[in-house]
Amino acid sequence: GRGAAGETDLHRARMRLSLQEKLWQFYQERVSIPAEEQAKARRAALDICAELRIFLHAKLPDMPLREMYLSGSLYDDLQVVTADHAQLMVPLILDKNLWSSVPGEDTIMNLPGFWLIRRENLEYFPRGSSYWDRCMVGGYLSPKSVLELFDRLVSGSINWPAIGSVLDYVIRPVVPSETLTLEVQYETDRCLYVDFLPLLVMDDGASLIAKPHRLAAERHQNLWRQSFRAAETARLRALDQEDGGCRCACLKVTKAVCKLSPALVRLTASQLTNALLLLSEREGDWTREALADRFLQVLRSLVGHLEAGILPCALAPKVNLFCELTPLEVDELGYTLYCSLSEPEGLLRT
Ligand code: GDP
Repeated sequence: GRGAAGETDLHRARMRLSLQEKLWQFYQERVSIPAEEQAKARRAALDICAELRIFLHAKLPDMPLREMYLSGSLYDDLQVVTADHAQLMVPLILDKNLWSSVPGEDTIMNLPGFWLIRRENLEYFPRGSSYWDRCMVGGYLSPKSVLELFDRLVSGSINWPAIGSVLDYVIRPVVPSETLTLEVQYETDRCLYVDFLPLLVMDDGASLIAKPHRLAAERHQNLWRQSFRAAETARLRALDQEDGGCRCACLKVTKAVCKLSPALVRLTASQLTNALLLLSEREGDWTREALADRFLQVLRSLVGHLEAGILPCALAPKVNLFCELTPLEVDELGYTLYCSLSEPEGLLRT
């Protein structure tokens, strides 16, 4: 006969199996978005992007921009639950000799992952020599000021009701919004939020985005945020491709759980992606049959990182991806996740 240990194992396996089945069922029913819904959302975003290009070329032909493009989980098949948001990337062109980048760890703020963009050579090239001087604050290029410039244009001088009626959408700028966001109602019951994300591409390929530090102290206002999103997403995808793994599926399940649960909504795609990448360094089995184990491990590792208050970016270990959470938020997230470990099915009933 079987020993007691064997029976506990079997019992455990059965429980695990059922969590596994529930996770895949949740994936089918809640997490993944029908292709047709995604296509409509992408269509709406593309229409808006096209209108903005026309407007900016006509109204501000001398503004040094590279072509705007759409980006985000909607374009990487990593969006979950509803196709409801996208980013419109707006790359600024900086004059090479007039601006330089200062890493956040070399400033008094000591913040790896953030950068200052300093105006150089003001003696020889006085204020006004660079188009972006109009967004300079205290000698630095201010992302806040760049956003305000676009806000004045996008909310103030574009006739959205007129464009909307041509496109058959209802379009309105979201106010107030931390970044600059357009709400696009593209069907009676479907809304898409399009965020404007001005960015700088550095010589070494690093992207800095104009997304303010969450704990917006005065001295943080000039900080540009380094984005690792493209590289992180590419790495996760590449790992899955090598072994036919379920990392992206696991990420999407975890993202959906957080999107649907008010207590976890603070956790970002970037934090979850990095928790998964770090786990991938230690854990080799990402077969479909391992989804439940890996999902639980991601939750457990998040609890560990929250206890430590540090989640290193997998691509830049000096960067702490929890640095914008308050101690109270860290405690609350950790507590919620810790409690969920004893009954993970509860997370899927949201
Ligand atoms: P999701 O919104 O949770 O599905 O996650 P995404 O993977 O689409 O990430 C979008 C979030 O990442 C937004 O809050 C963006 O402001 C931020 N972000 C940071 N860097 C980038 C970037 O390079 N591209 C895009 N699209 N978003 C970025």
